Amino acid sequence: MKSAAGGAVAPVATLGNRRLKVLQPEAARSLGPAGTLGPDPLTPLTDGLQRPISYLRISLTDRCNYRCTYCMPEGGVDILPRDEILSFEEIEAIVAALTQVGVRRVRLTGGEPTVRKDLLQLVQRLGRLGLEDLSLSTNGERLGELARPLRAAGLDRLNVSLDTLSAERFRAVTRRGNLDAVLAGLDAARAAGFRHTKLNTVAMRGFNDDELGAVCRYAFERDFIPRFIELMPMAAGSLFYPGTFLPAAEIRARLQAEFGELGPSTTAALPESGAAALPGVGPARYTEVRFAGQVRRVGLISAVTEPFCDTCNRIRLSATGQLHACLAYDDAIDLRSVLRAATAAATTAATTPKDQQSRLVALARAGLQQKRPGHEFTPAGCGGPQKHMVSIGG
Ligand code: SAM
Ligand code: SF4
Repeated sequence: MKSAAGGAVAPVATLGNRRLKVLQPEAARSLGPAGTLGPDPLTPLTDGLQRPISYLRISLTDRCNYRCTYCMPEGGVDILPRDEILSFEEIEAIVAALTQVGVRRVRLTGGEPTVRKDLLQLVQRLGRLGLEDLSLSTNGERLGELARPLRAAGLDRLNVSLDTLSAERFRAVTRRGNLDAVLAGLDAARAAGFRHTKLNTVAMRGFNDDELGAVCRYAFERDFIPRFIELMPMAAGSLFYPGTFLPAAEIRARLQAEFGELGPSTTAALPESGAAALPGVGPARYTEVRFAGQVRRVGLISAVTEPFCDTCNRIRLSATGQLHACLAYDDAIDLRSVLRAATAAATTAATTPKDQQSRLVALARAGLQQKRPGHEFTPAGCGGPQKHMVSIGG
C-alpha cells in the first residue's frame, strides 16, 4: 500500500476506535538527504509518527472585521497587544528556516489577514523565499481593492469564505459582513488571474443546507472550486450548536440530489486548472459532479466525521509565534522565544541568522515529535481546544 506521500504505510497508531496509518520509519528515512537520516539539521521535517510536514499556515492577526457566529463571539475575543504579534521580519525568519527542512507551501490566514497593515509587503517578502505555493484565506470583504495588488505581489492562490448567497443570511452569519462587497471581491479575484480560487462554505443545517447546489453553481460558472466544511467545535464548543452540524455524508447526499450520481473521491485538487494534480496538499477530499456537460470537483473538509489525520502534513503558526502541531489542541511550541532571545543576545554575543535558523528548526523538530496521531472532535461539539480558531489560525 502507498501513502499520499508515496511511502509504504502500516497501521501503527490508534485513536479511540480509529486505526491511523502512518509512514513506516524505513520509508521515512529515505526522505532524508541522500537517503540518510543521521544528525543532518536539514533532514526534512517529520512528526513523531513520521508524517512529512510540508504545509505551514500562518495567522497574521487574531483581529477580524467580521464576527462569524461559529468562529468569534459577538463582542470579539481579547485582542493581543501589538508587540505580542510577530513582525514581518520574524515571520520571514521562521518561514525561511522551515523551507530549509521541507515546508514548501504557505497559507496566510487569521483572523482576517487582510486587516493586517502592509500585507502586500509581507507577500512580496515571502514570495522571494522559493515556495512552491503561497496562498491566502480571506473573508473577501477587502478583495475588491486587494486582489490585483496581491497577485502582483506574488500571491499564487486564494481561499475565500462564502457561506451563503443570500444577503440577509450573510449579514446574520457574519454579523458585520457585506455580501455585495465579497461578490465584487470575487469578481476582482477572477480578473486578477490567480492560479485558482477556492470557496469555503461552512455547511450548517437549518442555515445554508438548502443552498449547497446554488453555491456550487455560482462557483462552477466562475471557475472557482467549491468546498464544504463540517462545523468544528473550537473554543471548548462554546460556539458550536450540535443541531446545526451537517455531516459530510449528508452534504454528499444533498450534492447527489442536486447533480446526480457523484464520481470518485480523491485528494487531488486541481484537475480543471490544467496544472498537475496535487495529491494530499490540503485537508479536502474532492468528489466529482457533472455540471453543464463537464466534470467538476467539489471539496469536502470533514474533520469531524471523516478525519484525515493519517495524511496530515500541516502545522500552524499563531500570530504570536506559537507553532501548533494540530488545530484541535491548545499546546504549542514557542518559536517567538528563539527570535526574541536572539535579538536580546545580539547585543552581547554574536548570533548569526544561520544559528537562529538552526535553533528554530531544532525546536520545531523536537516539538513536532509530540504531534498526536489525530483529534477527537465529535458531532456533539466536544473534543476541541479551549482556544478560538482566530487564536490558533484557521
Ligand atoms: N478570516 C478568513 C476567512 O474567514 O476565510 C480566514 C480565517 S478563518 C478562521 C478560516 C476558515 O475557517 C474560514 O473558511 C471559516 O469559515 C472557517 N471556520 C472558522 N470557524 C470554524 C468552525 N468552528 N468550524 C469550521 N470552520 C470554521
Ligand atoms: Fe473572521 Fe474568518 Fe472568523 Fe469569520 S471565520 S470571524 S471572517 S476569522
